[in-house]
Parts: sequence; structure tokens; C-alpha cells
Amino acid sequence: MRYATTVKPSPNKVRQTEQLDERQVKNDAGGFVYDIGIWGQLDRFLILGAEGGTYYCNQDKHVKRNYTALKACLKEDGLRVVSRIKDVSTRGLAPKQDHALFALAVAAAEGDLETRQYALASVNDVCRTASTFFYFLEELKSLRKLTGRAIKRTIKNWYDARDVDQVAFQAVKYRNRNGWSHADVLRVGHPSPNGDASRNALYRWIVDDKWTPEVSQPAIVEGYLAASQASSAKEVVKLITDYKLPREAVPTQFLNAPEVWDAMLPHMPLNALIRNLGNMTKSELLKPGNAATKLVLKKLEDAEYIRKSRVHPIQVLVAMKTYQSGHGMKGSGSWNPISAVVSSLDDAFYKAFANVEPTGKRFLVGVDVSGSMSWTSGLPGGLSACEVAAAMSMVWAATEPTVEVMGFADRFVDLGFTRKMSLSEAMKKAQMNNFGRTDCSLPMIWAGERKHEYDVFIVITDNETYFGSVHPKVALANYRKAFVKDARQVVMATSASNFSIADPSDPLALDIAGFSADVPQVIAAFVGGAKEAKPVEFED
Ligand code: CA
Repeated sequence: MRYATTVKPSPNKVRQTEQLDERQVKNDAGGFVYDIGIWGQLDRFLILGAEGGTYYCNQDKHVKRNYTALKACLKEDGLRVVSRIKDVSTRGLAPKQDHALFALAVAAAEGDLETRQYALASVNDVCRTASTFFYFLEELKSLRKLTGRAIKRTIKNWYDARDVDQVAFQAVKYRNRNGWSHADVLRVGHPSPNGDASRNALYRWIVDDKWTPEVSQPAIVEGYLAASQASSAKEVVKLITDYKLPREAVPTQFLNAPEVWDAMLPHMPLNALIRNLGNMTKSELLKPGNAATKLVLKKLEDAEYIRKSRVHPIQVLVAMKTYQSGHGMKGSGSWNPISAVVSSLDDAFYKAFANVEPTGKRFLVGVDVSGSMSWTSGLPGGLSACEVAAAMSMVWAATEPTVEVMGFADRFVDLGFTRKMSLSEAMKKAQMNNFGRTDCSLPMIWAGERKHEYDVFIVITDNETYFGSVHPKVALANYRKAFVKDARQVVMATSASNFSIADPSDPLALDIAGFSADVPQVIAAFVGGAKEAKPVEFED
């Protein structure tokens, strides 16, 4: 009998269902992993959200866990929370805005005085459209009373930050969203028009639907009112062209006419464009090789334009999946997808990440294709975590000179990814293999068995590992000892839990929210060798 080795076994003898060290916590699958802490979880929440829960945790529980972490962050440093929300929002890092808007509402309702003030003062930066402003107000309404000077000032600031034409545009485009209209907001805030007759007339029109006769109308209001009276598509086309009307200002009965879409196309913002590709194909505006399709392709291929429009890569992915499926999400009819459009969306995905440059390091990307990754996690378009993980892995597969992509569940899965593969093909291959138990140590073990040298392991996973006979950290340490002593590990999380296979005390390991638009730059900076530190090693 050896008492000491029984109570302190070699790390190589500790299964994932057993605690490797006292810092580890149990994940929802029954394995032991590291806790990323409240700030790490806040980051994941802001990027990934908690909609839909996870494979192991229902939505209510998942949302409440994230709320608890958010409250703990607010208690520790409320201003830091608001700064991070602003950062995520203004840099367009998250595929959806809802989570950041909710977090801002919680800060504005439940933070200390200074935090509440900073949160409300940040509304204008975070809520850049009326739609997001309305969503924020609706969330805030559930958390605190919408009365008092601070709320009135917030509303006034939002409208004052926009000139009359901009407010008019917001009023025409977002008439009614997320349970609010501009009339509702104006009734709560009673913002003064600052003695400006046209602003006064606009506010009156929003609330009473009557225009003050002696004041001239903003062009967009004029165009919108004329379009609502229009009796023919020809008339609507002229109004769209003259007034640059958005789709929301066009009466529904004209939205089947290709010439109407054709008139909107030149000034349509990119995110509206990618969402309406199906509609435009259905109306037969877009046909293979015609002028409108050429214009769409030109826009989708313009890297500068894509970056400026701040469309999130995962929104592009969602648009691609929807368009390729040939039917809309809400039963809005079907179309025959044009293959050139699909492949330019494929290119646009990469362009939507700012500056993806090869680092020249040797990469192994491990994609978790275990059963739990089939969860949709509230991602738009019903994309599963596994599909997004596969698409994300292509960022390195397509750009790095030395890279391999492998799949894993409870064993190695040959996904057969290649550099030239399309995103849809990669997603399909991953989806076909999306089942089984989970062992996140497999990328490092597989690399060691093949005796291949890698500088970087990227593991894309929900961190619900439990099946392996060694912990991922131990597999990494063994790999470093035998092959590349400073091999780095990046864990790209696909759900907003507090779990990570990365040891937070390992300076060569990094945990990041996996669907953030800045993931490629963050990883490039991390693997570029900026961090000078000794790798963690085991003694056994
Ligand atoms: Ca799993």
C-alpha cells in the first residue's frame, strides 16, 4: 500500500471526472474543469448571450447564472462593467446586441449611483438605432420604474444627439419595435425640442400623426407619406430613388415587385442586404448574371465596405445558411439560391473579421463535435455551436500556411477539412459527425501520438469535457514536455458558462469567448510571442 500516491496520484492517473487540483469545479457534464471567474463569464455573456440555454442547462437557469455573475461584477467594479459593454457594442464584437443591452439595463437599474449614471450616459453610444434603444427601454422597464429626471434626461440625450433629419429617419425606419414606438418614448421622456420649430413639428407628428402645416417636412417624412399613398409600383420606385427610402417605408403590397427592390438596392445597408437576399431572389430581381446580382456581388466582395458596415461574421454565416436553404425563417416563401451569391457570402465571412493575417505559427485546431455541440445556443438561423465552430476553424484553415483541423468527441474524428473548402461544406462535414461523448484532451493527445510539432492548439468547445482518462491540462503538459515546450493553447468557448479546460494560472493558455469578431486578432497577438512566461510543467 502506498498512501501518498493514493491521496496524491500522478496527474496522468486522474480522470476528467476526478478533481485534478482544488481550483477545479464540476462542469454540467460531471467533469472537472477550471472556473473562468465572473469577469470571464461576463465577457462570454456579452459575446455569446444565454438565449436557448445549453445542452445541459435550460434557458432560465443559464440566464440566471449569468445574471448572478453580472451582479457580482457590478458589485466589484460597476464602471468596468459599463466600459466593457461599451467596448463590445461599439466594436461590434457580438453577433447579437440583446445581451449587452440587457447588461446595460441591469447596470442602469441595479448598479451603485455612479454606475447607474455612467450606464445611462452610455445609452447613446450603445443604442445606435431606435430598435436597440427600444429593446434597452423594454428591459429597463422590467428592472426599474421609468420615471425620474435621469430617465427623462437619457431619452432627451438620445434624441438630441441626432439632428432632425436623423430622428425623422429613425422614426420612419423603426416605427414600432420591441414593444415600443417613438410616441411611447416621447410620452415617457417629454424631451423639449429646444426651441427648434422643425424638431417640435417632428415630435408632434410622431405623437399625434399630424404635421404642423407652416413647418416644412424633412425629406424622409415627405417620401414616407407619399409612399404610403402610392397606387403603383412605378410611383413607389420613383419615391424610393428620390428619397432613398428604406424597406420599412415601402408598403408591403409593393415588396413583390423586382423594380422596387432594384430601386432600394443601391442605398441598402449591408446588413439589410444580406438579410434580404432571399426576398430579392424570390422577387426575381436577382437572377444569375444580371445587373442587380452583379451589384450585390460587388458589394459583398468589397472588403473595405464590409468592414465599415460592421456586419458581424456570424451574421454573414447566418445569412449564407438561410439563403442557401432556399426558404425564409418565417415562412416567407422560397427561392432558388444563386451559387455566385452563396460563394461571395462565403468570402464575406472572412472579410468581416478585421485584418485576418497569417501568423506563420504551426496550428492545430480541434473542433468539438460531441453531441452537446449540436445545441443551437440561441444562435440566429438555428446554427448549432458545432456548425459555427467548424466555420470559425476555417479562419485558420484558410489563412495559415501550417495548419490542421481535427474533430473530436470521445475519440478523434477525421473531418477532412481542406484549405479550399467552402464554409457550407465544412459545416456539413462537422454536422454529419456531431455526436458522442466528450474528451477535450484529444487534440493534444492526437498531436503527441502523431509526433507533430504545433505552436498553437485552438480548441473550440463548450468545455463540457468528462470522458477522458487524463485532463486536457495534463495532456498539454505532456505534449509540451515531449515536443514543443512553449506550445500555446487557446480555448474558444461556445457557451456562456463559467467553465474552461484552460488553466487560468497557465500564462501560455488563453480562454476567449469563441464567437467574438476580434478572435483572430486576439489569437494572433497571443501567439505572436508577446507574453514572456514559463510554461506550466508537471513533476511526476
Ligand atoms: Ca459534449
